[in-house]
Order: sequence, then structure tokens, then C-alpha cells
Amino acid sequence: MIRTAVILAAGKGSRLRPHLDAPLPKGALTIGACSIIERSIQQLLAQGIERIIVGTGHGADWYDALAMRYPLACVPNAAYATTGSMATLRTIVAATGLQTPVVLVESDLIYERAVLSDLLEHPEPNCVLGMPYRGYGDEVFMQVDAQDRVVGLTKTAPASVETAPVLVGLTTIGPALLQAMVAHYDAAKHPMMDYEDALIAANEPAVCLMTDGQAMEVDDANHVAIAQDLMVDIECNDAYPDPKRTLLLNPGPAATSQSVKLAQIVPDICPREQAFVRVMAACRQQVCAVASATSEAVASVFFSGSGTAAVEAMVSSVMPASGHALIIDQGAYGQRMASIAQVHGLAHTVYSPDPVRALPVSGVESYLKSGQFTHVFVVHHETSTGLLNDVAALGALCDQYGVVLGVDGMSAFGAVPVDLVADGIDFYAASSNKNIQGMAGLGFVVARMDALQAIQAYPKRSLYLDLYGEYAAVAAKGQCRFTPPVQCAYAFRAALRELRVEGVSARYARYQALWRRLYDTMLALGFESVVAEADQGYLITAYRATDRVSDRFDFDQFHDYLYRRGITVYPGQLPGTQTFRLATIGDLTLADIERVCETIQSFFETVLV
Ligand code: PLP
Ligand code: MG
Ligand code: MG
Repeated sequence: MIRTAVILAAGKGSRLRPHLDAPLPKGALTIGACSIIERSIQQLLAQGIERIIVGTGHGADWYDALAMRYPLACVPNAAYATTGSMATLRTIVAATGLQTPVVLVESDLIYERAVLSDLLEHPEPNCVLGMPYRGYGDEVFMQVDAQDRVVGLTKTAPASVETAPVLVGLTTIGPALLQAMVAHYDAAKHPMMDYEDALIAANEPAVCLMTDGQAMEVDDANHVAIAQDLMVDIECNDAYPDPKRTLLLNPGPAATSQSVKLAQIVPDICPREQAFVRVMAACRQQVCAVASATSEAVASVFFSGSGTAAVEAMVSSVMPASGHALIIDQGAYGQRMASIAQVHGLAHTVYSPDPVRALPVSGVESYLKSGQFTHVFVVHHETSTGLLNDVAALGALCDQYGVVLGVDGMSAFGAVPVDLVADGIDFYAASSNKNIQGMAGLGFVVARMDALQAIQAYPKRSLYLDLYGEYAAVAAKGQCRFTPPVQCAYAFRAALRELRVEGVSARYARYQALWRRLYDTMLALGFESVVAEADQGYLITAYRATDRVSDRFDFDQFHDYLYRRGITVYPGQLPGTQTFRLATIGDLTLADIERVCETIQSFFETVLV
């Protein structure tokens, strides 16, 4: 955690006349409501910076006066007129013995809060913040290598100016890099050195981190006019924070819309109040509507917890003491249901068909014929591979044999249409954070009313995850038995509204269109899917490298390259094989996936050559 900021503020700012009086330092320039340095100090303090060291020179008195109002420690660079910014930094290190990670801030910056938080939240110790070229003039462009390490700086606009990172003037520096910069400076005997030059020359790498937030360096009179306009945007963005949009291609939690994120910001409320009871009731009712056209024939029961909580509630609550379950294992999530049955001591048999082919219903039938089984548990869409099962066919079979069917529909629900009543499904478990595009924190089981009433007197194997107990408590009093994730529920209600507006079928069509675009790109680059195309759900695909790329491809490198560009991909879950997964679920557009494809292409062109 970075708690210290260093502001380099010794420079003269002579290019800012007539906007700045000659005796004043650059930071004193007023843009918007106050001086730009005051705004910067306020941003730093608001994000947990506790110690602010200002390297002063020209107009040092002005900073000394400012230090009466803000917690600043001013360190004068007496030789500021004949030295560069690295000399100021060197003076600070000598005066303070600084050894903690710092954020280095130029004194002539305006920037919005998200720009600083992008930087402070990044795990790399040394990050030079970059932003896309916006034509403000007098830019410094960064040159980066394939690992995004900053290797050079230039004032000459490169040919592909649109993609060249522009230096913002906000940089995090870990202790090792700071020490290396100081060593370089001391050895070079070049008093006019800029801190950026030391940063590049030092024997410690710093990576370029791009932000799409608003920021600008105010160096000259032209900049002042642009900055005055930009400040209106910055103030607006800071007042109504718009969380940065990242593209999640992991198989959930999926990307959520800005409105779903903002729906969590509500006044504190006790969940026992009727206003909150109505929020949960709306969620339950909407989930039932997604689960069946005959929604009055089903009930949804919510648990605070992840999806596994809902699956465990289902498996552990719906079997009588004399029951025997057939658990279909086609991957990690089928296996998890078997583990749950194991933990609860439930009689069960695991059926493991070919994990990369759609479930042969005849294979299930050969088990049911024995008459031994009372329950079947299956995963609708096996998230570990992207395999989709025909649960309606299985439902019909279970009806024929008088067997209860429980489905883990975690990554299908909200996109792949189901109808519990029409499809012969008794119990169906899912969660708030995948295709419904809500926040993680709520799991639920939707049950047919007749199936739910049938389990009333079954043995209770858990207090918390007791399906009938939770259902009955809510039916009687409207309230959850245990504390619900309050803000998550508000977001879930908003997400369910958005699902109703889009429609389940339209959402599935959108996801499939995104999937197709990405799938074609991956195949063209030399990957293949683990599951045959015809047996997939077109939501999530487990890929593996073919011989064309397998010797060069490294998933961790691929992950890191994409992650630095705001795109998250996910490792595979198949034992014994090198696979990874790409999901096209969540609040993503075709334009987003175009960007993903371009970024993946550029990884292959620049890193894997
Ligand atoms: N079941 C399936 C099919 C899943 O895809 C997942 C999560 O990806 C789970 C269960 C478990 O959900 P959680 O990680 O939210 O507990
Ligand atoms: Mg400057
Ligand atoms: Mg049935």
C-alpha cells in the first residue's frame, strides 16, 4: 500500500505567463475552483496518501504557506535554478531517507480521481502512468517493449500516434527503483537530469500502465485553455464516479453494467425493514420468471454465499434418508456435486461419461433402469469446458422413471432458456454473478412447488443451507433467516431489471455473437476447443494450443499482457491438459470483443514473434 507521495515542484513555469505571476510556482496556477496543486493534494489525501513531500525551488515560499493548510513536508532544492527534477528528488531522498514505495507526482497536473486509483491499485511496484494521445500538444511519448516495460521517452510523435502511450506525470516507484535512480544520478554527474531519464536508465524495470481517465499536464498558455474545459469533465467525473470498465472474459463473476454497479450505492438500511424486504421479494419473483413461464408454480430460495452455497443447499436438502443419487460428472462442477454428497454422507453413484461430448441420455437411462436411483444431479452448462447438456431431454427421462432432477445451472441461467415446469426439472441452482450480470454474493435455488413441498420432512443436514427452512421462513415472515448481502441485493434487482429489458433469448443471442467473433479469432490463431463445436453452449470455451503455437504460447504471459490492457482471461480446469478459458458472458458488446480480438492479435504479433 502506497502511503507516501512526492511532488516535484521546483520548476519555474516560465511558459505559463501571463496566466501565472512570475514569483509563483507552477502548482499555484488556478484551474477551476482552486490551484492545481491543491486539487492534486486533495486527490492524494482522498486516496489514502498520508505523507506528502514537496520538493520546492522557484516560489518555495508559496509552498511553505500552503503547508500551513495541508499536511505537507517541504524540502527545498536550493540549486533548483541550475538543476533538473532528478536533483530535486535526490535532495528529498537525502533529506528524508525515504525508503517506502512512493507515488511521484508532477506539480503541473490535473487529473481525475480514477486516474490516480488506477495507478495506486496496480500490483506492479513500478508503474509509469500512460494515457492515449489526445492532441493536447507538447506530449512526451513512451516507448515500451513487449512486456510493457518503459524503455524510452521521446517528444517526437511516433507514426502510430493513436496507440502510443503519452506520459501523464504520475508514477509509482518502489524502494529498489528509487535506490537505482539515485545511484544512476550520483554516478552520471549530470545535474540537469530529469527524473524520467533516471527512471529509464536505472537498472530496475518500470511498466507502462494505461489509463483511460482524464488527465493533463499544464505546461504552457495553450494548455491552460484546454485544461479549463477539461476541468469541467474532471469535476463531473469525480462527483459521479464511473468505475473503470474492465472486460472480464473469465467465466464469472461477469462484467456488470455501470448502472448495476451504481445500484449498490444506497443509504444504509436494516434488512429487516419493509423497504428491503420488497427488494428481496422483487428479486425472488424475477428469478422465478426467468426459471419458468409458469412462475407461480416455482419458488426461489436465496442464500448469502457464492454459487456453491446454492448447489450445496440443493444437494443436501432434497434427498430423503433412503435416497440414492446419480451424479453426472463431466468436469469440475459435476465433481463438486459429488464432493458435496460425500461430505453430507449421501448415498450416491457417480456417472462419468466422456467429458467432451454432450451427455448421452441413453447412458443415464441405463443407470435409472436399475430402479435404484431416486435423484439425478447434473450440470446444465459445465463451466470448466463449455459443454452444454440438454436438460429438457433429461427432465423427460427423469419424469418417466419417477426420479427427481436437480440441476446446477450456474453458468446457463439467464442466457440459456429453461422452463422448470415444461422441462421436468425439480430443482435448479444458480447465482447472481454470471449471466444475470449482478454482483457476487447471492446463490439461489429455484424449485418446483410440488418438489419443494415434498422435501419438507426430509432430514436437515445443514442449518444455514436448509432449503425448505429458508423457504418456509421467508414465506411466513418475508425476511431472510440470516443477514443478506444488502448492497448486492440492490445490484441484483437492477441486474434483473436489465435482463427483463434485454430478454433471456436476446441475451443468449448477444453472448453467442460475441462468442463466435472470439472463437473464430482463436481458431485462426492456432487454438482449438476442447469440446466439439456442436456440443458447446457458445458462452464459455476451454481452448488448448495446437502444434502451430504450443511451443511459443505461455498462458501466464498471455494473461499478464491482456490484464495490463484491462482484459481478464482465465486458466483452465481440466486435469492433465494445458487449457484456458474465454467466456463471453456479462455486460460486453461486440465493440468490446473487437478490442479483445485486436489485443490478442497484437500479443501474437509483438510478443510471440
Ligand atoms: N457450478 C458451476 C456450473 C459453476 O460454473 C460455478 C462457478 O463458476 C459454481 C458451481 C460455483 O460457483 P461459486 O464459485 O460461485 O461458488
Ligand atoms: Mg511539465
Ligand atoms: Mg421430474
